Amino acid sequence: MTPESKRTAITVDAGFDSGNIEVLGVDGATARLAIRRDTSSEFFQWFHFRVSGCAGRALELRITGLASAAYPDGWVGYRACVSEDRDIWTRAETRYEAAVDGGTMTIRYTPEAATCWFAYFAPYSMERHHDLVAEMAASDGVTHRVLGTSLDGQPIDCLSVGEGETQVWLIARQHPGESMAEWWVEGALDMLTDPADPHARALRKRCRFHVVPNCNPDGSRRGHLRTNAVGVNLNREWHEPSAERSPEVLAIRNAMDETGVHFAMDVHGDEAIPAVFFAGFEGIPGWTEPQGEGYRRYRAILERRTPDFQTRRGYPAARPGKANLSMATNQIAQRFGAVSMTLEMPFKDNDDLPDPVQGWSPERSKLLARECLASLLEWLS
Ligand code: ZN
Repeated sequence: MTPESKRTAITVDAGFDSGNIEVLGVDGATARLAIRRDTSSEFFQWFHFRVSGCAGRALELRITGLASAAYPDGWVGYRACVSEDRDIWTRAETRYEAAVDGGTMTIRYTPEAATCWFAYFAPYSMERHHDLVAEMAASDGVTHRVLGTSLDGQPIDCLSVGEGETQVWLIARQHPGESMAEWWVEGALDMLTDPADPHARALRKRCRFHVVPNCNPDGSRRGHLRTNAVGVNLNREWHEPSAERSPEVLAIRNAMDETGVHFAMDVHGDEAIPAVFFAGFEGIPGWTEPQGEGYRRYRAILERRTPDFQTRRGYPAARPGKANLSMATNQIAQRFGAVSMTLEMPFKDNDDLPDPVQGWSPERSKLLARECLASLLEWLS
C-alpha cells in the first residue's frame, strides 16, 4: 500500500434500500457516525451502511449518541454485523462506552475487499422480499394476494398454502429493523412449499397457512427501526387500525376477519435479551384456561425440540385484565380466541449456545422456523 492511499479518506454511504447512517466526520480510516431517527418518530437503533476504499485498512467506526437510542441496553454485549460480499454476515469486534460522546459504539474491522457493509443485523432487502414472493407465488398450491397498500404505495403481500381447516397466520416485520423476522419467514415458506418435507405434507393437510413476510415495507425500505412511513408503531394499532395511520394493519386484520384465526405467530427481534423467547396473551379480558393451556403446551413442545428456544428469560406476563389490546398477539387472541404468540429472536445471540463467528444469524432464524412448524404439527396431533 502506498503512503497516499493510507491517507485517503474512506467513503461511508447509506443511500440504498434500508440504508441508515449519518456521517459526522471522516479522517483516514476512522469515521464518526450517528443513526438517523425513524421519520416523524423518536425511535432509532437500526443502522446499515457501506464503507468504500477500505481494502486492508484497519477501520475504526465510531457510532455516537447511542445512549438515547430506543434500547440502550441493546448495545451492551452486542457485536455489529459485517459482510464483504452481502451474503455471509459475521460479527466484528465491537465495544460500547455509555459515557463517551452520548454513548459510543466503536467497531473495529480490517476488510480484505475494497467495499464492506455493516448493519445492526443481516439485512433482508425489499428486492429479496420480491424474489421470495415471486418464487413462492409460482410454487404449486400457493396462492398470492395483495391485502392492501402501504402509505408509500407498496403492496402488503400474503402467501397462502394448505388445504386444512385450521387457520394459521404467520406475520413478520411489523418492526422493520427486526430483519431476522423475514429470514424466519423465508425458512418457514421454504419448508411449507417443499413437496418432499414430511412435516410440511402433514401440515398442509391439516392447516390453511396465511403468511405475511413483511408487514411494514415502508419502514423496511426507509431504514427504520420500529415505525412506518408516518412514524407509527404498527404493533400499537391493532385495537383501532386506520387507513391514515396504519393501513398495513387494517388490511391484515380485515383479511384475518374473513378467515378467522386458530393459531398465530407474530415474528420479531429483541434488542437486549440474548435468547429466543415468546410473549403470550396473558391478561386479555377473554382469557380462558384452555386457551392459555394451548399456548403453554405449544411453548413446551418447541422448548423440547430445539436448544435455540427457552422459557427462563423473556418479558414479564401481563396481570389479569391488563393486556395491551393494541398489540397483535393480544388482539388476535382476544378477537378470535386463537392461540397467539409473539416470537422474539435476539439481535445479539442465544447465550446458552453462542456462535462466536456469526452470533444469531439468518441461518439460525430459518432453522428455528422449521422447528416452530414441526412443533405446530406435534401440537395439532
Ligand atoms: Zn418488534
